[in-house]
Amino acid sequence: MFVNERRSVSQPCTTTDMSHVMSTQPRRSLFAYIFAKAQFYCVVFVLIPFIFVFQVTVVYPELVKKLKAGIAKQIFHICLISFCFINVVGNLVYSIMMDSTLKRPAFGEGTYCEECRMVRPVRSWHCMQCNVCIMKRDHHCSFLSRCIGLYNQRYFVLFLGHVMLSMIYATYYNYYFVTMKFKDGWALSAFRIINPLLRFVIPEPMGSKDVYLFFLFMNIALIFWSGGLFYWHFKNVVMGVTSYEARFPELKDASRWKQNLLNVFGTKWYLAIIWPMCKSPLPEDAKYV
Ligand SMILES: [Zn+2]
Ligand SMILES: [Zn+2]
Repeated sequence: MFVNERRSVSQPCTTTDMSHVMSTQPRRSLFAYIFAKAQFYCVVFVLIPFIFVFQVTVVYPELVKKLKAGIAKQIFHICLISFCFINVVGNLVYSIMMDSTLKRPAFGEGTYCEECRMVRPVRSWHCMQCNVCIMKRDHHCSFLSRCIGLYNQRYFVLFLGHVMLSMIYATYYNYYFVTMKFKDGWALSAFRIINPLLRFVIPEPMGSKDVYLFFLFMNIALIFWSGGLFYWHFKNVVMGVTSYEARFPELKDASRWKQNLLNVFGTKWYLAIIWPMCKSPLPEDAKYV
């Protein structure tokens, strides 16, 4: 079976020449490359800061005024908003910065990569988009325009988890904000957002209220998007498998869940889950796999 081959194929290391690795380049067209990078920079430097500024400067002050929140409550929510922002952006940026590219041939067991012309560890695979071998390759993320592997899986999974928590929190107070704006109910606006053609039969012009409602819908959609992905990836982490290996039930091992979690989140996992900038070294047996 292919997966058994994958875990057992052994081939001695025959070369330490790095020149072929250095010369590999992404195969995609220039347009696809620029589009992928632009998508990432738009999200990190435009969309997320815009949402953050909108929530802090428009939604938050109105809610404080309306609900007559005390100073302690205000400080609590400012800390919570900052915590969400730091963890979402921090984990996203580190997912990009941490490089899981295979830099040198495997010294022990491995499979031979025809493209890179070197022996790679058993769980490392060649990515056709990145055109390099990735250590403990999980999958190629089109959104990040890069592979998720040994060194950035921690940040990727935590990014999804923090987006989910942040969106649950944002939905909670945006719901109050929207109901405050739509004193006579927001059902008609909701219909118009779902089906823009209804604008011709519902005469009320689109205003800023519709934009607020659109944000609320986006929050809810992002809960499902990030929550679904987080569930899938976290389950694989607990089972000790990559996205590819998850197809093979015999490779899943829930009994080693503690070690499996350490292999992704590192020995300082308790800090990693709340502070993306902290270093959390991976155990030795997580490497070279
Ligand atoms: Zn390769
Ligand atoms: Zn890739």
